[in-house]
Amino acid sequence: MKRKHINRKTLLKALPVAALAAVALPVMGKTLRFRPAKPSPVSPAPVTVDRERAVENLAAMIRCKTVSSLDESRIDWTEFERFEALLKERYPLVHATARKEKVGRTGLLYCVKGASSTAPTVLMSHYDVVPAEEENWTRPPFGGLVEDGCLWGRGTLDTKVTLMGILEALETLLAEGYRPRQDLYLAFSGQEEIAGEDCPAMVALLRERGISPALVLDEGGAVVEQVFPGVTQECALIGVAEKGSANIRLSLASSGGHASTPPPVSTLGRLSRALVAIEENPFPRQMTAPVREMLDTLGRHSTPLYRMIFANQQLFAPLLDLYCRRTGGELNAMLRTTVAPTRFEGSRAYNVMPPAASFGVNVRLLGEDTVESVVDDLKRIVDDEEIVIEPVEGSNPSNPSPASRTDSEGYRKLTEAIRQTWPEALVSPYLMMAGSDSRHYCAISDSVYRFSAMRLSKEERAMIHGNDERVPVETLVTVVAFYQRLLRLV
Ligand SMILES: [Zn+2]
Repeated sequence: MKRKHINRKTLLKALPVAALAAVALPVMGKTLRFRPAKPSPVSPAPVTVDRERAVENLAAMIRCKTVSSLDESRIDWTEFERFEALLKERYPLVHATARKEKVGRTGLLYCVKGASSTAPTVLMSHYDVVPAEEENWTRPPFGGLVEDGCLWGRGTLDTKVTLMGILEALETLLAEGYRPRQDLYLAFSGQEEIAGEDCPAMVALLRERGISPALVLDEGGAVVEQVFPGVTQECALIGVAEKGSANIRLSLASSGGHASTPPPVSTLGRLSRALVAIEENPFPRQMTAPVREMLDTLGRHSTPLYRMIFANQQLFAPLLDLYCRRTGGELNAMLRTTVAPTRFEGSRAYNVMPPAASFGVNVRLLGEDTVESVVDDLKRIVDDEEIVIEPVEGSNPSNPSPASRTDSEGYRKLTEAIRQTWPEALVSPYLMMAGSDSRHYCAISDSVYRFSAMRLSKEERAMIHGNDERVPVETLVTVVAFYQRLLRLV
């Protein structure tokens, strides 16, 4: 037998190939195994929706101008009272069955006793709306008009539609003799848009009574398309956590002076350097559970290239990070605490050096970061002891709720109702960028979820807080159907 002779040259040539194979093979292996689990079969529970009644009731809600404002003199309280009275008139069975409490000026807390009180459910919504610039609307924002298959008006999407959906579903089920398995709470606030006190007050009341909900559902994600790279199917996104938000002020005093004899470095110059330092030192990447779970869920349904990246997150993380730092945007915001400079104040006159100057940033906090830790980090980055850095207001990121059917009964029931209503949609957890009132419930519940039970196009998402907000009649009917299915499960 001829002895195989390997010379040095061949070995040197083979080395890079072997090294590449050593990396590529596990990557390929992981990618091939990174497949979606086979979905369990779903059998939608039958629902009865009184379309006309649902449309009429939502239209009547829209006609109440429940516009909230930080300036209390601008709030028309009679509209809020009218709204409350409307609910009583339109949903007689709910009001005959549930115990209703008024909490604060606008909080409406209903409780329907279930067969058990061990694992209660809270369905949240809010009935205040942001103002509408009437002149920019093609239909009156508070007219409750139905045209072109849509109900038009401020608050149709955000979020009187879910409030209507909850009450319509419950009214219908009660007529059929429904009783929830567990205590059911409906918690509606009229101060969400101004982050008012009524929602936290309702949470405090529940806490006082020792109530720890097994499921809290508030507005948030939706059934959406084209939101994840390489995934063409529609996705039902459940917000399992939300980022925190803080306004932070950076200010510097000076002796002022005349513009004809400026110092070598001005107050505005020093503050500008601080701002540049902040932009050049983005907060470090954090892979939080909600984002990891979303990549793990939706990544499996993506195209081969993306599947390779998401299957080998650890390996590709630095590359992904570099890309995100360059592009900014939503993906970047999912991976780190972001800082957006929003205001810069100096002198009012061209020829006067400001005696004090400042700038403000809006920080969206992720994961481990807190308002306090972010202020410390900014001090370190700015590295100028004379610049005072202080939080004006802020809230920390919410605790993430479990995104698994085995870890949370509430999540299981929610996904079940979603799959019954949108059988084709991929259900996935996600991290919510915006804030909602639901974060207050993290103090009394481990299962707080944010899902607006609607299919929303990109165009419709842009109508929220915008002009010509409207909801297709088909969509509002589906909202009622979803809540009927969910109520049968809780
Ligand atoms: Zn809202």
